[in-house]
Amino acid sequence: MSTPDPFQTLRDEMVEKQLRERGIHDQRVLDAMRRVPRHMFVASELQHLAYRDCPLPIGENQTISQPYIVALMTELLHLTGTERVLEVGMGSGYQTAILCELTAQVYTLECVPRLAEQGAAALARLGYENVEIHIGDGSQGLPDMAPFDAILVAAAAPALPGPLRSQLSEHGGRMVLPVGDDKRQYLEVVVRQENRWEIERTIPVRFVPLVGRYGFSPRVWLEDSTEDE
Ligand code: SAH
Repeated sequence: MSTPDPFQTLRDEMVEKQLRERGIHDQRVLDAMRRVPRHMFVASELQHLAYRDCPLPIGENQTISQPYIVALMTELLHLTGTERVLEVGMGSGYQTAILCELTAQVYTLECVPRLAEQGAAALARLGYENVEIHIGDGSQGLPDMAPFDAILVAAAAPALPGPLRSQLSEHGGRMVLPVGDDKRQYLEVVVRQENRWEIERTIPVRFVPLVGRYGFSPRVWLEDSTEDE
């Protein structure tokens, strides 16, 4: 993924100003964010905005998350390169690509088939092969592939979804997810040791809703979610 491209300077600046200066320090995460061509995950008319400090629309009322949030969530997973990781809410596939760079095997779930197809096409163009893409309700996880060493949820859940909690590895499995509603959400880190789940609340965030069985009913959420993460 290291072929030079016309966006490399913008990407280097993004890493310095938006990530390193704000406290992202995991060198593997910074390097991955420097390598992955974020502009390849948005529509061509938005490519010139791909390295800005904000989320962008990807269609279907969804957004590609702000670079800082992608980096922070990834850093909080403490990936070393050997983990099996579940991502819920693939969206554009950008976060998926970052995970593919940093770990052995990624499983991703997206409930909107058109987004899953677009994301799959972008990941294939870039040559990622350590990813399995599933279309379905990610709030229920992927029981057949569990346990996972790490789980990243890219949409806000009303509460920690039970199936995801139990699909986390019993030996230090880590999950990062936004919890809350359209008014208030926090990024939470969950660490499992056998049958104990330690939960740490970090920064306030703003994500689109997790729908599905352990998420929100789509009608509960306000209609203005297109500007969110
Ligand atoms: N990381 C993605 C974020 C996309 S926004 C990116 O940067 O592009 C969140 C995504 O979660 C949307 O694509 C939405 O369709 C998806 N989503 C919401 N609820 C879901 C569910 N229950 N199962 C799977 N995907 C879900």
